[in-house]
Amino acid sequence: MAETIIVVGHKNPDNDAICAAIGYAELKNILAERDAPGCVYKPARLGQLPPETGWVLGKLGIPVPELIDHVDPGQKVILVDHNELLQAVDGLEDAELLEIIDHHRLADIQTSQPIRVRNEPVGSTATIIAGMYQEHGVMPSANMAGLLAAAILADTVMFKSPTCTKRDIAMAERMARIGGVNIKELGRQLFSTAGGKSVEELVSSDFKEFHIGEQNLGVGQVTCLDSMEMLERKEEFLAVMRRLQEERHYNMVILMLTDVLLEGTQLLYVGSDEAIRNAFSAEPKDNALFLPGVMSRKKQVIPMLSALWG
Ligand code: MN
Ligand code: MN
Repeated sequence: MAETIIVVGHKNPDNDAICAAIGYAELKNILAERDAPGCVYKPARLGQLPPETGWVLGKLGIPVPELIDHVDPGQKVILVDHNELLQAVDGLEDAELLEIIDHHRLADIQTSQPIRVRNEPVGSTATIIAGMYQEHGVMPSANMAGLLAAAILADTVMFKSPTCTKRDIAMAERMARIGGVNIKELGRQLFSTAGGKSVEELVSSDFKEFHIGEQNLGVGQVTCLDSMEMLERKEEFLAVMRRLQEERHYNMVILMLTDVLLEGTQLLYVGSDEAIRNAFSAEPKDNALFLPGVMSRKKQVIPMLSALWG
């Protein structure tokens, strides 16, 4: 009987976590047919599909990976798009970890045996995986190439994120060529899927908690092409954020409306005006502030607050 190896991204998955798992499982299956018959690589996910991922999988006719919540005693596992225990599938300590493919800082996962780890400072795990197809002389199918292009576009915010490298752009362009998709059009479609969501869904879909110094805060981020339109719902956003602040006892709640076309972030917040003024050296008005050039929560917003409170 064939042995099944699970390829899985992080908890609370984003587009890259899911698409990298699909793309890598497919490459491993193609290579297994050649080199190691009897192994079947199966992509999995640890949470709900982000809307843009649902859209792109549907468009390309690629099956949605199975939802799992843990792995058993001995299950062989490959991790993509993370290497941090807190973000990894439950039960990992009982599983056999074979490989990690990632583009985040090296964190805390430990193994008893040597494993393959591939960690590269690029903007998307899909970039590394697309490169691995090339290294192995495997041409991805048109659909898989389209999927990898979409994953690179989403993770690099259409190449505008400070995490984006020349390799991400070159690889996305190559995948788009193979997939026969127009990269600008694909990007526009990916980032306009926020349209039908409620204010609650927009605030909570990519929401992370931070503890900096004595401060507890929650920071949500919505990537969009129409932040001015989103700002028409500002009072609704602030009401949801105030409720979250009360319920979870946050000192501050921030929502980043990151606009790909304006190349900046409309920052909404509830909490101290003083803190925002000092962290970003700019004058907020009515719980809002535009931050030109700010696209990344982890590289730009959190460090400013850490400098203030840390
Ligand atoms: Mn990710
Ligand atoms: Mn990623």
